[in-house]
Amino acid sequence: MDGGLLKRFLGYAGRVLHVDLTRGKVTAEPLRKELAEGLLGGFGVNNKLAYDYAPAGVNPLSPESLVVFGAGPLNGTLAPGAAKIHVTAKMPLTGFYGTCGGGGGFALQLKLAGYDHVVVAGRADRPVYILIDGGDVKLLSAEDLWGEPTYEATLELWERHQGSSVVAVGPAGERLVKFSLTLVDNVATLGRGGLGAVFGSKNLKAVVARGSGEVEVADRERFMKTVNELRERIEKYPLRPLLAEYGMMAGWGAWAEMFQVPVEEAQRYFDPELFSSRVKVASVACPSCPFSCKFLFRESGVDVWAADYFTPLAAFGYAFQITDHSKILRITAAVNQYGLDMLSLSSLVNLVLELHSRGVISSDELGGLKPESNAETVLAVARLVAERRHIGEVLAEGWREVVRRFGEVAENGVATVKGLDVLYDPRRTY
Ligand code: SF4
Repeated sequence: MDGGLLKRFLGYAGRVLHVDLTRGKVTAEPLRKELAEGLLGGFGVNNKLAYDYAPAGVNPLSPESLVVFGAGPLNGTLAPGAAKIHVTAKMPLTGFYGTCGGGGGFALQLKLAGYDHVVVAGRADRPVYILIDGGDVKLLSAEDLWGEPTYEATLELWERHQGSSVVAVGPAGERLVKFSLTLVDNVATLGRGGLGAVFGSKNLKAVVARGSGEVEVADRERFMKTVNELRERIEKYPLRPLLAEYGMMAGWGAWAEMFQVPVEEAQRYFDPELFSSRVKVASVACPSCPFSCKFLFRESGVDVWAADYFTPLAAFGYAFQITDHSKILRITAAVNQYGLDMLSLSSLVNLVLELHSRGVISSDELGGLKPESNAETVLAVARLVAERRHIGEVLAEGWREVVRRFGEVAENGVATVKGLDVLYDPRRTY
């Protein structure tokens, strides 16, 4: 590959990496100036690259589909909170292009390795991972990692490539579950709509990036003045200590109010003192971010990384009346290890309870499970989906297939947009 492409604009690394998994070929091209100027940042350029390089009408799970990673001009600088990587792909759950953003260190490492974007095409004939190690880009065997849960695969790749950042898929993505996603550095979710399945369809277990370069800015003095001013403002932000301690949980009270959950009821699920002293092991921040909204927990001696605690508490705790933190953490770990979307899983578990109570599905179709509103049921359904067994084979196809199979009872059970369940039902929000 051409390692001599010049950096063309300050703030950008100046190169787009192309990886063809079918041919095992890696090339690079300069980032075109009109793209960088006209479509500022990772999100905009990503979509143009997908538009330019993906064939029209492509099947999201075919070799011709693309996964486009993008970092923007502020990634890799000291701009507070400029950490997110964007990924654009045609999503199997919706059949539409989607662009997702996730924290962690991937955007930083990609820029330091000398690339703004990575366009991944094709399908490897065996499981692989992509290693972007400065100017050196390789496809390496992931046969020993295939089937590994996301946390373990990431830990192993960190061990092999120390100081790197890892975007990895779990067993659900490998089995093309349409609401599977990827994790960035174990602490950030990336890819609602089935990015995990797109990885799986390409036999792609992970993308690993590590760099030692730097990102130059046009006017270092003025840039740092602005950065320092922003930092000072953030320091003085009254909610900063709360956000740094509890992450999104700082908004638990506001959420309860919005959903008309009585205060005492909301408090049953979240005790800030217990959370700080006994539940949380450490807060985790993305590079350059003064907030640390992500967490490391430990349950029965096992590390549990989490993008946030709010989502599992709302999607599993409140939804199924589970107040025991250790059970919430077991669910968080399992769902992340499989690489499933928590929100989609939560609404599907709810549907399973409804279908079973109406006699539409039997315990046999649930692998012998007698579903109840508890952690054991959530864990069992997550497993059936990730392994595509029994009812899990239908649920793994997402809401469109579930509605086709179960009709009105399923259709009325959730609000979806183009087959993807929405974060919060707007009819309850406003
Ligand atoms: S730590 Fe949280 S607030 Fe900071 S960049 Fe990451 S996701 Fe955003």
